[in-house]
Amino acid sequence: MGGVGEADARNGRRRLGLFGGTFDPPHIGHLWLAETAREQLQLEAVLFLPTGSPPHKQNCQVTAVSHRLAMLQQAIHENPHFCIDMTDIERPLPHTTVTLLPQLKQLYADADLWWLIGSDSLRDLPTWNDPEQIIQQCRLGVLPRPAVDIDWETLETAVPGIKTAVDWLDGPQLHISSTIIRRWAYNGHSLRYLVGTAVADYIQTHQLYKPVNG
Ligand code: ATP
Repeated sequence: MGGVGEADARNGRRRLGLFGGTFDPPHIGHLWLAETAREQLQLEAVLFLPTGSPPHKQNCQVTAVSHRLAMLQQAIHENPHFCIDMTDIERPLPHTTVTLLPQLKQLYADADLWWLIGSDSLRDLPTWNDPEQIIQQCRLGVLPRPAVDIDWETLETAVPGIKTAVDWLDGPQLHISSTIIRRWAYNGHSLRYLVGTAVADYIQTHQLYKPVNG
């Protein structure tokens, strides 16, 4: 854990990871991204920022915030470097990253910030609101996801400066997503080891992601 101390010695600032997501449900891919970012970017902490109403999922059915929050608490509680930040969920709509960052920069004024994403989110960044403004406010910590190719020329044209705003995270890629897990649960399969034990129990107890009359 020498990283944080080194960072303090370098510029006197803390290093924090910001991890926004729907977390419907939180799974080992999310935890792996957060942990690998914590280690490789020498972050003091990773703040999980569940979104109340994801702008890019307006046409999808998203599980109630209360369930997603409860599962996220269960998912991260064993890691002292992980915590939940309620800023996004508690603010008025719309929940865009570009408007969230100024609030977080004010809240954590003594920290350098990394917005953590999978490479699918990096590829799709041009569809986000004002991505140029996003990368002026923080760096991006990006973990590759399987079968996601980045066309750097197109991306740099759409979001000038993106190439130098990214810190790549190295490590095994997990072919897992919340969508895959919801489908797996819907079909009646065990979620053990795809999500934490407590999260799997929660999903079972509350009969989440099951056919309505199943
Ligand atoms: P869904 O399948 O419902 O779209 P998701 O699994 O992609 O969900 P989100 O909560 O929407 O999860 O994503 C939050 C962030 O986590 C995104 O930046 C996404 O790229 C990243 N992420 C999710 N799963 C992985 C994974 N297996 N590897 C790397 N990054 C991931």
